[in-house]
Amino acid sequence: MTRIGFLGLGHMGMPMAVNLMKAGHDVRGFDLVPAAIEAALAAGIPIAESAADAAAGVDVVITMFPAGKHVIEAYQGGLLAAARPDTLFIESSTIAVEEAQTAHALAVAAGHRNIDAPVSGGVVGAENGTLAFMVGGSEEDFATALPLLEAMGKRIVHCGGPGLGQAAKVCNNMILAVSQIAVAEAFVLGERLGLEHQALFDVVSQASGQCWSITTNCPVPGPVPTSPANRDYQPGFAGALMAKDLGLALQAIEGTGTDARMGMLAQQIYATFAAGDGAGRDFSGIITDIRDTSSADL
Ligand code: NAD
Repeated sequence: MTRIGFLGLGHMGMPMAVNLMKAGHDVRGFDLVPAAIEAALAAGIPIAESAADAAAGVDVVITMFPAGKHVIEAYQGGLLAAARPDTLFIESSTIAVEEAQTAHALAVAAGHRNIDAPVSGGVVGAENGTLAFMVGGSEEDFATALPLLEAMGKRIVHCGGPGLGQAAKVCNNMILAVSQIAVAEAFVLGERLGLEHQALFDVVSQASGQCWSITTNCPVPGPVPTSPANRDYQPGFAGALMAKDLGLALQAIEGTGTDARMGMLAQQIYATFAAGDGAGRDFSGIITDIRDTSSADL
């Protein structure tokens, strides 16, 4: 049994904390928002009096915050100071590679251990304990964290040193964004050429254009009954989250001088999508924007 302070009990954090408790760990949580605390109490998670209180006297502190600035502020604002020496900090929010490396350096300078362990799999994966974890940090810290990550996830990959879990996450989501746009463009092009959705699906899903964006997240209703297109693009993975992740990808592209034109274009496309009605819709809903902005005369 590991004593765990779990900070950030939002959409992802709360079900993750519940799965740690189900695996027999001693969890106490904290969130800044009263509604999140109430929901966590209702789910049976004991709540600490403050973030510092949740971090004091535990073996492991897990953070699941909206963005990197929250992580750095919390680390510097008393979390690291409150923890016992050599506490393992598992940082699972999706943040910039540089921010993850800063968080790592702050934790180490304060006498602690730290890994970045961002996730994919969404709220459903968090509830079902089937998240994928991409981990950056030392072999030793990865080994300590592994049983806890296994209580919350199914696929856990050690990607390398500090920050490289976030690096893997940003690369994956850049591929995902570009491929989802490509699939949506192909369906709109097919429509305009007179091709049935099902026919295009039957070809592409078994051909070299095959990818998750068509076989699981097909952007038109019909061929994949569980895809968000069949429920008016209810997420799934919301446009706002994709736009956030592509902002982190852009930061990484610019920071490394990478010639990633498709990734940069995808960032612009999803920033526009999320600034309109796409923020709360599944990111495969980009197909409706592509239809709307395609030329009116055929
Ligand atoms: P959320 O906004 O629902 O939850 C974040 C919680 O952190 C909030 O309840 C907020 O009050 C709390 N918080 C912020 N600062 C805090 C502090 N100092 N102390 C205690 N609590 C604090 O967000 P979410 O959807 O749960 O996502 C969390 C992270 O996981 C994000 O970085 C997101 O990008 C990433 N992520 C989300 C999904 C998804 O589908 N929702 C999928 C993969 C990754």
